Amino acid sequence: MSKEKGVIEIRVAGLSEGVHLYDFTCKATDFKKPELAEPGFCNDICVKVVANKTDSEITVDIETKTVAELSCDICLAPLKKEVTGEYRIFFVFGEPGSNTDAQDENYRVLDRNASVIDLTEDVRETLLLSKPLKVVCIDNPGCSVYHEKETGGDDKEKNAKSPWRASLEKLKDKYH
Ligand SMILES: [Zn+2]
Repeated sequence: MSKEKGVIEIRVAGLSEGVHLYDFTCKATDFKKPELAEPGFCNDICVKVVANKTDSEITVDIETKTVAELSCDICLAPLKKEVTGEYRIFFVFGEPGSNTDAQDENYRVLDRNASVIDLTEDVRETLLLSKPLKVVCIDNPGCSVYHEKETGGDDKEKNAKSPWRASLEKLKDKYH
């Protein structure tokens, strides 16, 4: 066994054709790179891998799930959010060095004699991509900016007019 074992890898030597399921549980610190610590991935990370082998390729679906410790973009209150990520890679059997399509990183050439597929980097990227771009708290009354925006509209007029138009017309009436 190699010492530099990947955090997430699947054994493909002698793998039969068909669908194979793998479950992993890991920590962000297992990845040994600092990027994952930053978005608040401090809880257990569940990784599901589905490998579908045919005689010409192995399709690998990665699904990541974890509870991220984030903070609200507006009021900075800490909050937890379950985040999931998905990624699909096609490993096409071929000669090492032959590159079918260098443009698409989802298509990779896999040596038929390869014994394992190391998915560590792909899982790490999937996790990073699963981090939400915007985070706002949902039921925090102290987070005023967000809630004022949400309830600003007048229900009766919401089909016909935007809140902005409605207040403009109220203003017109006032100075009529
Ligand atoms: Zn907030």
